[in-house]
Amino acid sequence: MTKQSLFQLAIPGVQQLVPYAPGKPITELQRELGLEHIVKLASNENPLGPGPKAIAAIETALPDLARYPDGSGFLLKQALSGRHDISTEQIVLGNGSNEILELLARTFLTPDTEVIFSQHAFAVYPLVTQAVGAQGKSIPALNYGHDLDGMLKAVTANTRMVFIANPNNPTGTFLQHDELESFLKSLPKHVICVLDEAYYEFINEQENFNSRLWLEQFANFIITRTFSKAYGLAGLRVGYGLSSVEMIDLLNRVRQPFNNNSLALAAAQAALDDSDYLHKTLDVNRQGMKQLTKAFSDLNLSWIPSAGNFVSVDLHRPAFPVYEALLKKGVIVRPVANYEMPNHLRISIGTLEENQFFIDALSEVLRDV
Ligand SMILES: *Cc1c(COP(=O)(O)O)cnc(C)c1O
Repeated sequence: MTKQSLFQLAIPGVQQLVPYAPGKPITELQRELGLEHIVKLASNENPLGPGPKAIAAIETALPDLARYPDGSGFLLKQALSGRHDISTEQIVLGNGSNEILELLARTFLTPDTEVIFSQHAFAVYPLVTQAVGAQGKSIPALNYGHDLDGMLKAVTANTRMVFIANPNNPTGTFLQHDELESFLKSLPKHVICVLDEAYYEFINEQENFNSRLWLEQFANFIITRTFSKAYGLAGLRVGYGLSSVEMIDLLNRVRQPFNNNSLALAAAQAALDDSDYLHKTLDVNRQGMKQLTKAFSDLNLSWIPSAGNFVSVDLHRPAFPVYEALLKKGVIVRPVANYEMPNHLRISIGTLEENQFFIDALSEVLRDV
């Protein structure tokens, strides 16, 4: 069989898919340029590394690696149940929260259904939509954020799902409690609202609210969270969904039986208890956000105010050449032209030293271009 004909066997959505482009791995840039010192601020990872309690839990779990993991994730769900004051039957665990997004697509979407998401929203929404052949509808953003009214107006009888990232990646924009609540109230019951809260822990205290309480009011609603960002476990792949018992039952039918490995389960459970590490993480993030935005303002650059652990800066010129020049200096950031933001770079907030290394490199690059 030729390549051509194999391609034609794929479902049309997959034929048109552009694979997700992750941040460049440090080892790849090392291979390419032979640089010793590399700073990666490209994937919204925790710059402190994993927390000490997570590492200790992994060491404890190592001797049991010959066994299959607990496919029900009993202990982690128990811990999450206590944390969120919710029944374990309302929790589904995923191999990263990305897997929950994919499970939702596989559970509810068919080629006859439509999915609504915002322009500049997380790239995985169109990806999981197209992968199952459903129709994605991207709604133009308002000041880089979700236009909730526009999204509501786009709902038809065929709409089955709407994805909302709060805060959104890569813009960092944040929707307040009241606007989201009135959106949920207006959303027809045949549409499932997926509220992706991957950056929940970073939202400042004055603005933050407990979206979990909406689960009691809205059956067509699911919240996704992750251990990849504030909890520093991106490499282990653990996320979860909170929803109604009925929703979780459906997702569990589609879920692979052992989707979370045993080290990931143990580490996530321990990380949930490590409040010292979480506080340190939030501190580093607050300071880094100040440091970066002050540097941007010194460089006469504007940025999108961000509620997350990253910030997208407007270079007022095509960003890709600046991205490439930064790579040569050993700094990996994220170009976001694929998000229709060709003049922006998204910078994940690192340690003070990493941020400074980036700021110095950026200042030099901007002087040279
Ligand atoms: C990083 C991110 C995720 C988390 O992905 P994981 O699969 O949990 O690592 C989910 N949603 C958004 C918007 C993100 O930026």
